Amino acid sequence: MSVRLYNTLTSHKEPFEPADPDHARIYVCGPTVYDYAHLGHARCYVVYDVLVRHLRANGMKVTYVRNVTDVDDKILKRAAETGTEPTALAARFADAYSEDMHRLGNLDPDVEPRVSTHLEDIFALVQRLVDGGHAYVSDGDVYFSVESFSDYGKLSHRDLTQMKLGASERLDETHAARKRHPADFALWKKSEEGAWGWDSPWGRGRPGWHIECSAMSMKHLGDTLDLHGGGLDLVFPHHENEIAQSEAATGKLFSRCWMHNGFVEVDKEKMSKSLGNFFTARDLFDRIEPEAIRYFMMTVHYRAPLSLDWTLDDAGNVTGFPQFEEAERRVAYVYKTKQRLEGLPPNRVVDNDVPAQAEIAGFADTLRESLDDDLNMPVALAKLAEFLKAVNELCDQAMRKKGKAARSAVEHAQRGFRALEAELGVGAEPADVILLRIRDRGAKARGLDGTAIEQQIAHRTEARNSKDFAEADRIRDELAAQGVELLDGPEGTGWTISD
Ligand SMILES: [Zn+2]
Repeated sequence: MSVRLYNTLTSHKEPFEPADPDHARIYVCGPTVYDYAHLGHARCYVVYDVLVRHLRANGMKVTYVRNVTDVDDKILKRAAETGTEPTALAARFADAYSEDMHRLGNLDPDVEPRVSTHLEDIFALVQRLVDGGHAYVSDGDVYFSVESFSDYGKLSHRDLTQMKLGASERLDETHAARKRHPADFALWKKSEEGAWGWDSPWGRGRPGWHIECSAMSMKHLGDTLDLHGGGLDLVFPHHENEIAQSEAATGKLFSRCWMHNGFVEVDKEKMSKSLGNFFTARDLFDRIEPEAIRYFMMTVHYRAPLSLDWTLDDAGNVTGFPQFEEAERRVAYVYKTKQRLEGLPPNRVVDNDVPAQAEIAGFADTLRESLDDDLNMPVALAKLAEFLKAVNELCDQAMRKKGKAARSAVEHAQRGFRALEAELGVGAEPADVILLRIRDRGAKARGLDGTAIEQQIAHRTEARNSKDFAEADRIRDELAAQGVELLDGPEGTGWTISD
């Protein structure tokens, strides 16, 4: 394999070389489950899903670990606001998150560790840091001492003197007094009597956010990971702190490669709850095929920001998402093409010497090469467009009078669709199911009633059978005026919404 990835640690695109060349050990920071997955999550986990698929499709074994943060102050806050028990709230959103990831076509990670079941591992790591002089106990809290780790700042490319200024401005008084250096961060936070927490060697409390990822990744993947991923916003402080904790404890390199994906932006600002420009994946599932959301996430390079547009009516209600709608048309085109290929009558497919078009024969390879190059999904999609066009031409040619398609070209095309599914997770659903769903949603959006359309079609068929062609044409024209296009075929009349 010759995968090259941009490594945040070295600021270079370099060959991805796991310690064991046949087995990649990958850890990706998962969500904090206090709400539904938003589009930023959708983007992040689609990116790492494509990475894992690509490595596996090319023969590498991958152990993919993606955690669930089910113990966190955000969960505590949301639970208090809604009068829920924090563990129950986290469990509910963890289930919802898992469901949303499936709908987006993301594979399950091999291990999905939760903080609530890894407290012992966290205790052990914190104790190791305290024993090694890298952490100190202060009034029930335990802090990591950044000054004890000389490489602190190597991932985010900043040094401690800069951070001293930045952090001291943000510090709240209580914690400032407990810390030796303003950039020191909590490994363990004291909980008040009766509050949510666990009994630890340092008293009742809860883990700080960063320590969980060091403890859980090293438990499941060993001291040195091959790749650690997450959103760009995690570089500092989260990933910087993970490096400090892990490397201070083990004395070994924590991760060979660090991969970070860009934000989903709205009007050039990061999508965030506090800015009010926030959409959950679920908000969109009712409007758009989840696979179109997945497709849209691949239209921009994973490291670049992805800007989201929508249209509003006069009252300020969201009326549409043009980019998702375009992505859905492209996804429908994938399935329509696949359906045409699968539906070629056997007598139209012949053994001959006609070579397959390069766009068909070479698609699986160009797809792989695009992803080898720092997971370049926009190029992969451009190659896909050429592939689909060529497959449609092949089908056109086969269906002409006395037309034929070469068996080798058909087989290459089938292999192309298998590669598309394996590498990008696109085109995996039964075509008729997804196309019907897209059609019916499109009809509903135009205020059309599918049952009424079916009835009109039945009337038209009756009219045709009794040779009343004027009436049959009238019904066809009436439907066409509503944007309904009829498709007459050997098995009856189907319909679609015209673009
Ligand atoms: Zn993490």
